[in-house]
Amino acid sequence: MALVDVDLALIGYGGATSLLLDALDRHGVRGLRIATVDPVETARPHRTWAFWTGPRDAFDPILDAAWSHVDLYGPGGAQRLELAPMRYAMVRSGPVFARADEAADRLGVQAVRASAAALDDDGTSVTVRDAGGAAIVRAAWALDSRPTAPHRPGRTFWLQHFRGWWVRADRDVFDPSSAILMDFRTPQPAHGVSFGYVLPTGPRTGLIEYTEFSPARLDDAGYETALRSYLKLLDLPELAVEEVEDGAIPMTDAPFARRPSPRVVRLGTAGGATRPSTGYTFSAMRRQAEGIAAALAAGGDPVPPAAYPRRHLWMDAVALRAWDRGLVAAPAFFERLFTRNPPGRVLRFLDGLTSPAEEVALMGSTPLLPMARAAAGDLLARIVR
Ligand SMILES: Cc1cc2nc3c(=O)[nH]c(=O)nc-3n(C[C@H](O)[C@H](O)[C@H](O)COP(=O)(O)OP(=O)(O)OC[C@H]3O[C@@H](n4cnc5c(N)ncnc54)[C@H](O)[C@@H]3O)c2cc1C
Repeated sequence: MALVDVDLALIGYGGATSLLLDALDRHGVRGLRIATVDPVETARPHRTWAFWTGPRDAFDPILDAAWSHVDLYGPGGAQRLELAPMRYAMVRSGPVFARADEAADRLGVQAVRASAAALDDDGTSVTVRDAGGAAIVRAAWALDSRPTAPHRPGRTFWLQHFRGWWVRADRDVFDPSSAILMDFRTPQPAHGVSFGYVLPTGPRTGLIEYTEFSPARLDDAGYETALRSYLKLLDLPELAVEEVEDGAIPMTDAPFARRPSPRVVRLGTAGGATRPSTGYTFSAMRRQAEGIAAALAAGGDPVPPAAYPRRHLWMDAVALRAWDRGLVAAPAFFERLFTRNPPGRVLRFLDGLTSPAEEVALMGSTPLLPMARAAAGDLLARIVR
């Protein structure tokens, strides 16, 4: 394979790179030589992305659905959360990838079908090597979204792991104007927390998922049983399952190296875009993409700001610790967070966008004593590390 020489090598062509290509195109970045490096041609991981957004969004034309209110079923019963003017939105990866491919065509991106095994950074350029050590791409910058482990261990390592069914009914069964965001009526695991959610796309179609925040995945039979019993709880008739959605996202206070070497920048989950206390990643990946595109359009370096402020990562570390050590039950935690604060504040917090004053109010709505114990434990663990 001839060496491809570019300004920007995008290693991994999944969510983060797709959003970046779309942003580069929208920001009118032209004249950059760009290559993507991914071993997979068409089967980029298919998934559904749910995220918060405002009344208008660049992805409106490709959204599957958006809701201005959502329901939460916590220990205190059912609560409807009015989100307006914000919305909870859902987009499937297919249209996002299609948009990225169109952007790639306009940007003249070269697709290198290979697995990147090493990124050798000499401080002025990066050489991308395959598993045999051959140089396949040389670039001024490499933006790397290959899955990677945190660069040092954390104090809590959980997963958000889930399985969902895209279902179709033969009569109207859903209210398409409202989604179920978190339904904690599911049987709770011994260690961790579980919930169901329902994202309807029409009166007869939608995505129903069973999710756990806990240390380890279930086996197939475990997800199957959990989903069947959740459908029973929702009192839904027999539904045709058209597609299965399955995955696991890290929930950890272990840090991800955002810039492992001068000219290598990590993106997406590998770059710390996953919010440790929720697994939400999509909005942070979009912010990173916008930041990089704006910087490049202005003639700067493709280095995005951190996905979340440090104080948010600390708050997430404390929350994870409190749940993991059994100091606070996550269902009550989320219920208090959502019902004792204006939803807009909580949503901005989950996206990492609140001010310190708003965060004081948010902290005040959580169970203070157990959270203080978790914070003290976290501090001690950091000191003795
Ligand atoms: C099923 C699922 C549903 C999700 N739903 C949501 C959601 O609703 N909301 C939300 O905010 N987040 C969600 N997430 C989390 C997050 O948004 C996604 O994981 C997102 O795809 C992360 O993007 P990424 O680019 O970091 O990783 P990926 O999209 O996984 O892309 C990584 C790419 O790297 C490539 N690659 C791997 N090894 C190599 C190699 N050696 N060389 C070159 N390329 C390589 C892979 O082929 C892949 O294309 C979900 C995650 C999953 C798994």
